[in-house]
Amino acid sequence: MTTKLVNQELSRQVIVGAIIAIVLLPIWIPFDYLVDPVNFETFLALRIFGILTISVGLLIFIRTGSQVEHYKKSAMLTYMALILSMLPMCILTDEKLPYYIGFSTVFFAVSILVVWPLRYFATPMLISALILGIAHWHSSSDWKSMVTGMFLTINVCLMSGVASWLMHRNFLINENLLNQLESLSNTDRLTGLHNRRYFDIRLQDELAHAKRNNTATTILMLDVDHFKKYNDHYGHQQGDECLRQFGNCVQKSLSRQTDFVARYGGEEFVVVMPNTDIDGAELVASKIIENLEIAQIPHCQSPVAPYVTASIGIANTKSVSAHEIVELADSALYKAKQSGRNRFVSA
Ligand code: GH3
Ligand code: MG
Ligand code: MG
Repeated sequence: MTTKLVNQELSRQVIVGAIIAIVLLPIWIPFDYLVDPVNFETFLALRIFGILTISVGLLIFIRTGSQVEHYKKSAMLTYMALILSMLPMCILTDEKLPYYIGFSTVFFAVSILVVWPLRYFATPMLISALILGIAHWHSSSDWKSMVTGMFLTINVCLMSGVASWLMHRNFLINENLLNQLESLSNTDRLTGLHNRRYFDIRLQDELAHAKRNNTATTILMLDVDHFKKYNDHYGHQQGDECLRQFGNCVQKSLSRQTDFVARYGGEEFVVVMPNTDIDGAELVASKIIENLEIAQIPHCQSPVAPYVTASIGIANTKSVSAHEIVELADSALYKAKQSGRNRFVSA
């Protein structure tokens, strides 16, 4: 969920960067005329080329749903279009300084607007700086303006490189922290399984997905039998350990990647199985009961069996709300308790 938000933000930054470039490029057309009327027509063509390339790239990016896989390519396209439209200006004109400043601004702006690894930013920048250096060397301009130009370019390149590196580094740190936070907020501290918050969010998603595809969703509501007696006899510490082992047992009874178990609260757990029919659901429920028997977690106070057992309520439906499916599983669980525990009942 967090990653999705971060990725959306990155895509938005590329869109904003491209729009800024599309707005700024034509603003400087009258300025070209004032500074260098001789090359005006060439510069006009270069600016139109830049605007068109960036606009087309931006349209494609938005059309493909601003997908994150395309975000780096789109940013690179914008960057290259800007470089390709401005580099010849720096070489052609005799009034180099304003164009150097403009070109350096592109480096600096991109370095702080786009978050990507340094090599994405630095490679085109270094190549164009090299081309500029060579062109300068062969030009007839005096050595003073050459040194000033080169100094300015190197200065801005270094500054932009550091800015880009810092941006990406901070982004990685933040992304890592966000991932840790997300994982913590979805995990039950005691068992290490998913928690109630995760279950609530995922169940909504799964039900919406099932409705679109007209498939059935199954949930199992599990409750440890006579757990109060367990706590009273073995103590709460051992009770906690029992819940961990119980969670493990349930987890390893699931085989599909899409199935998941969460701790619903206290000694109640819930299993969600998307796209599963009632036969599949009952198979998993009996596997859980079987695995608990194999695990043999001792429970000498239980009137049901000498080991920890569970009662399971199964709800298997199409097109119901999260509230309804939980209620169905809950009433089936109640029936399983009523009819002697250590069993499953389907709603
Ligand atoms: P039943 O067979 O009808 O389900 O009976 P039960 O004793 O399992 O159910 P009851 O609701 O009476 O008791 C649940 C117990 O679970 C009471 C509570 O102390 C214990 N419990 C809930 N959460 C935790 C926990 O995190 N750790 C421990 N050790 N015990 C917990
Ligand atoms: Mg209970
Ligand atoms: Mg119980």
